[in-house]
Amino acid sequence: MMDIAEFQGIIERMYSAKDRKRGSAATFVWLMEEVGELATAIREGTTEEKEGEFADVLAWLATLANVEGIDLAKVIRRKYAGGCPGCGEMVCQCHHEKP
Ligand SMILES: [Mg+2]
Ligand SMILES: [Zn+2]
Repeated sequence: MMDIAEFQGIIERMYSAKDRKRGSAATFVWLMEEVGELATAIREGTTEEKEGEFADVLAWLATLANVEGIDLAKVIRRKYAGGCPGCGEMVCQCHHEKP
């Protein structure tokens, strides 16, 4: 078991020196590349490949959050822990897609 804050901290420790040098714009491109790999894995990958790409996407999202100084655990708690941001319900009652 690993929570989001612990994961973001591990990514920070492993990569932050390189990440800050690269900057947000280039890091965002890497995140998009991993999102593309996830798309491919969902379409034609094995379960193991899919699992690996989910991990990569989350790692690059955590990296981008680190570069931007965003605490992921804090912001997801604030935005989603009290219910759907659209309707406030724990089981969304909105008639549109996620906000
Ligand atoms: Mg990948
Ligand atoms: Zn809702």
